[in-house]
Amino acid sequence: MATASFERVHDRVYRVPVPFEGGGLTNMYLVRGAKTAIIDTAVLGGPTDYLAPALASIGLGLGSVDYVLNTHGHMDHLGGNAEMKDAGAEISIHKADVERSTSNQSHLDRARAGMEMLGLHERVAAREAQLLRLLGREVGCDRELDDGDIVDLGPDVKLTVIHTPGHTPGSVCYYWEAAGILITGDSIQVRGSRVGGMPVLEDPSSYPASLAKAESVGATTLCMGHAFKGPDGDLGPVPTGANVAAVYRESLAVHESWADAIRQAFSDLPNGSGGERGFRAAELLREKYNLGDADGGFPGSGSMTIPAYLRAAGM
Ligand SMILES: [Zn+2]
Repeated sequence: MATASFERVHDRVYRVPVPFEGGGLTNMYLVRGAKTAIIDTAVLGGPTDYLAPALASIGLGLGSVDYVLNTHGHMDHLGGNAEMKDAGAEISIHKADVERSTSNQSHLDRARAGMEMLGLHERVAAREAQLLRLLGREVGCDRELDDGDIVDLGPDVKLTVIHTPGHTPGSVCYYWEAAGILITGDSIQVRGSRVGGMPVLEDPSSYPASLAKAESVGATTLCMGHAFKGPDGDLGPVPTGANVAAVYRESLAVHESWADAIRQAFSDLPNGSGGERGFRAAELLREKYNLGDADGGFPGSGSMTIPAYLRAAGM
């Protein structure tokens, strides 16, 4: 049994961090109204090993959670859904990410397509095996969410679903207006969640509008899925005050830098392969963002994001 770590970020909101293999860490958020919701479930084993002991410390159990509210369908946010479903919770996810809750194969297919576009064929098998270790069994969803839906946790806690695609097509934020708290999952990426890495964006062309939409609600506290990196260290997982504006400003600036670098790479390498153009773009930004090479020579998360930028640019 892992040691539970549990941070109260508001009277009704707790952050539950769940570490997982390869240095990852996903933050789940427990929100307590008359009903209780857990925002995301991290990876397989996360609810059992981390959430259950955290809940026990306040006299609750997994069976006390009424709703799972996924911010999106990535492995490190819905991998524990089956454990919560088995404990009696109802699962909600945006309609554009539903397939990820019903098909583990869809996760493998997306990973393979991106890696092959960059020529990283030899890394596919290991990535697929990792995804299968971290994804629980497919339990689908009980409620498909749409933009503007209200999740009613009781008279004093109502969460509004704000559709913010970019990270995935079905990424959402949950806004508790009365508390000024926006739970963003991975919708807002800043410089990405790891030093030397880059934002994870499957659909970069829809990202700027989503950033503007999220910022427009005027939240004073963000509850983020990871410790997202800014120019001077971590801005997440729970930025407040002036750091909220810094999160949006830097997120947009990083996206614009990558879009420009990809355009430059197409211009420099008119007949280049995906791998060659992607590597050129990374080289253009390597110094500015202190990029590493953790993803097969590309910056961390590059095999997910660079193919998406290449496709958006016409490849
Ligand atoms: Zn994600």
